[in-house]
Amino acid sequence: MLKKNDKIAINIDSCTSLGSGVGKYNGMTVFAANTAPGDHAVLHIIKVKPNYAIGKVEKIIHPSKMRIQPECPVFEKCGGCAFGHIDYEEELKIKAQQVKDNFKRLAGIEIEPQPIISGKNDKRYRNKAQYPVQSDSNGLALIGFYAPHSHRVVDCADCLLQPEEFKKVTDVFRNWVRLFKISTYNEATHKGLLRHIYVRKAVKTDELMVCVVINGNDIPFKDELIFELKDALPNLKSIVLNKNKKDTNVVLGDECITLYGNGYITDELCSLRFDISPLSFYQVNHDTAELLYNKAKEYAGLSGNETVLDLYCGTGTIGLTMAKDAKQIIGVEIIPQAIQNAVENAKKNGIDNARFICADASKAAEMLKEEGIQPDVAIIDPPRKGCSRDLLETLSKMNPNRIVYVSCDSATLARDVKILEELGYNPEEVTPVDMFPRTPHCEAVCLLTRK
Ligand code: SAH
Repeated sequence: MLKKNDKIAINIDSCTSLGSGVGKYNGMTVFAANTAPGDHAVLHIIKVKPNYAIGKVEKIIHPSKMRIQPECPVFEKCGGCAFGHIDYEEELKIKAQQVKDNFKRLAGIEIEPQPIISGKNDKRYRNKAQYPVQSDSNGLALIGFYAPHSHRVVDCADCLLQPEEFKKVTDVFRNWVRLFKISTYNEATHKGLLRHIYVRKAVKTDELMVCVVINGNDIPFKDELIFELKDALPNLKSIVLNKNKKDTNVVLGDECITLYGNGYITDELCSLRFDISPLSFYQVNHDTAELLYNKAKEYAGLSGNETVLDLYCGTGTIGLTMAKDAKQIIGVEIIPQAIQNAVENAKKNGIDNARFICADASKAAEMLKEEGIQPDVAIIDPPRKGCSRDLLETLSKMNPNRIVYVSCDSATLARDVKILEELGYNPEEVTPVDMFPRTPHCEAVCLLTRK
């Protein structure tokens, strides 16, 4: 039997969805982060449970052929990337396999995914970062990312997934916080001012927005901060203060105050222009989002006569990119600022066949059904937790011919597809989309048709 503190030599033969290596030792499953399938490694066992154990790598005896030298200096210390030590082509195979496995394991559906879609870049592809701020035991302010499975901040000078200029933003903040002794938020005591630095870039138009998330109403030495940010970043379009006084893990509060600029940035996606407010969702990987939207549009199979329901529409992006090929678009989204953006975005792009509703998706679907709306195509793009059964039932009663399900978690996708199958829909195709290279997450889009 394995015991805590044992040292074992083991072959790693697969990988979890979180990028952790998996091997068998005397019949027992052992997980070890930062190992790769094909490694022969010595592990220090740090936890033993009835069905599995967790080990920490002591030594790699034979490295897997999948291995590469991680480029990031804080890889392993930071909880962001899971595949930094694995060749990107191998990561794509692992992610595609996971989508297939989730359909089989969680839904009992045998489906061979279409070839995984990925963009050109596995680095510097993100357009958004939310850096937690914390003080270490000496009171020194740290700005970076959480360590794996914790809320301890690892200072990060330059994340390789972010645009290079985000480093200038965090540099300005580090200096400002340290120079003016700005207090940093402490989750345990719920005291301290500065919680997060949130940066967003419209990569096509080169507009940058910086958002300061605080546990309070205002910041001291504001003019100094604004001056330094503008000085360091010629493309800075807006600076926003976000108040989050709640004792919560959620990064953003509900209230935004514009300190500089107009409070939003404008990007170009699929040849349309989109205003994006700080509280509105926007796909984090611009180029791969275009590939995803093209696939969603192909699955929608539009001829020009369709009513398209775009549930969880954010700033209206998916529906608006389909508007010219459909009769009408109805977008539904719960965040008021995102709906405001969506309405403006339709106008801005000269689209007059789109209507937007600010409501919970499930309630809005019920309301639209009562109104007698019969969508030909429904697009659903929920957060990671997926859809409620209520929503899927209402949707099936509205009887669209096609459902295009866009998902950032293939486990909840598989669960919901199984429900839709029971409600009379056939899963025709699923395409994994690597929206988040190097991290454990993978997007997927699935086409279902009425049986
Ligand atoms: N389709 C959009 C946004 C997808 S993200 C795009 O591609 O950009 C998921 C969106 O669902 C977010 O904008 C979130 O605010 C919204 N949302 C979360 N819960 C919701 C609910 N219960 N009802 C409607 N929208 C919801």
